[in-house]
This record gives sequence, structure tokens and C-alpha cells, in this order.
Amino acid sequence: MARMRVTVIGCAGSFPGPDSPASCYLLEAEGFRLVIDMGNGALGVLQRYAELFGIDAICVSHLHADHCADLAAYWVARQFTPDGPRPPIPVYGPRGTAGQAKPDLGPGSDGIGGGPGGQLRFDVHELEPGSFGIGPFLITAERMNHPVETFGFRVEYDGWRLAYSADTGESDALVRLAAGVDLLLCEASFLDGQDTRPDLHLTARQAAAHAARAGAGRLVLTHLVPWNDGDRTLAEAATAFRGPLSLAASGLVLGPGVPAPPG
Ligand SMILES: [Zn+2]
Repeated sequence: MARMRVTVIGCAGSFPGPDSPASCYLLEAEGFRLVIDMGNGALGVLQRYAELFGIDAICVSHLHADHCADLAAYWVARQFTPDGPRPPIPVYGPRGTAGQAKPDLGPGSDGIGGGPGGQLRFDVHELEPGSFGIGPFLITAERMNHPVETFGFRVEYDGWRLAYSADTGESDALVRLAAGVDLLLCEASFLDGQDTRPDLHLTARQAAAHAARAGAGRLVLTHLVPWNDGDRTLAEAATAFRGPLSLAASGLVLGPGVPAPPG
């Protein structure tokens, strides 16, 4: 039976950590490879799990550097190959994605790769809330609660359902997006008692409460800021979610038939 496979490429929150790039996830089914987010440091580690030009589509949740910085790095890779530029692949993102996707190569460089935005390397589609197909996947995008336009994603394939929070503060839309999913990949940037502000990120406890409200089968906490203690993140989340619970890690494989690692 065809199965979807999810590999965590990067799960560090806000900036790359010593053990992980910033946000990046590789989703595979039927030989199709979809990358969700391309944070700083992601392109290097991504090549351990996928051939450099084996990516079929990219979805970017929002334009903070820890979610999109390596889009420009990938543009360079696809533009300046010894065999000539690679054909465009679809890139989905919020308004302004085209401008982020092409690096600033200096005066006179606008003719390279199709002008501003570099649309010839990337075929950029601006996201709106709703459902659409990318390769074999059914994607649903919803706006999250973050200072810039940010989309969370629900991804369905062959009856298995994943939701990804991207970056968000408390959000009823996230609960709707994750309703009944097999796996919620939810950001947990803060710990209880940290000097947080609303409408920015979730604490581990809030992430767990969202998973419980959504009825998610399993919760994997991600967007883990390197200075937070992992054990404390898990302990605080465990107070609000009773199902299988674990921390994301670079290289972690998730999907139907993949057992949950010990929390
Ligand atoms: Zn952000």
C-alpha cells in the first residue's frame, strides 16, 4: 500500500540550533517530494534525504527567515548548475513569496532567472485559505495567528492526515485545521513563565491543549528554540495532552505505520 512519509529536516525555532536547521519538513508519497518550509540551514541537511533536484514542490508557511531563508539558497542551486538552469518547480507561499525566493545578485541581475522574483526557477503561487492539490497530496491552508501572514497546513494522503501549525499564537483556526488528524506537528516555542506576548507563539502547554481540543491522535512538538529545555517542554505539554507525545528532531521519520518514539 502506498504510504506517506514525513521526515523532519529542521525543527529548530527562530534560528538554527547545533543539532537542527530551522523549520523544514520533507513529505513523500508515490515518489513525489513536497517540502514544507525552507528555514535557514535546511538546504544542506535536506540533501541527506533527497537528491538536490529531486524536490517537486515547496510550500512556505510565512516569510520569517527561519521558515523561508533557504528558498533563496535553493534558487541559486537551481540557477547555477553546470548543466544549466533547472526547470521551474511550484512554490506556494503568502503574498511576497516571489520577492523572497530570488537572492539579490546585484545590479543587472534581474535578467537572470526571469527577472524580479525569479519566476523561471520557481513558479510561485500565492496562498489563500482553502483546499487544493499538490502532487498526490490534498492540502488545506488556514491563516494562523502570527504577526505576518502565516498559513498552517493540513495534508492528507490515502486516509492519513497530518496538520502543521507553522508559527502561531492561540488559534481556533489551528484546532479546526487539526480536527481528527493522525499527527499534529505543533510549534512549542515558549515554556510556562517565560515573558511571552500573545498572538506570536505557543507554549508547550498551549500546543498540547490545541492538540487535545482538535482530537489529534499524536502530537509532535516542533519549532523548538535551542535555549529551551526539551524535558521541560515535554513535561509541560504532558499536563494538557494524554496521547502519544514527543519532540521533533532532525532526521525523525513520521507517518502511517511508523511507531511513536518513546516520549
Ligand atoms: Zn514566524
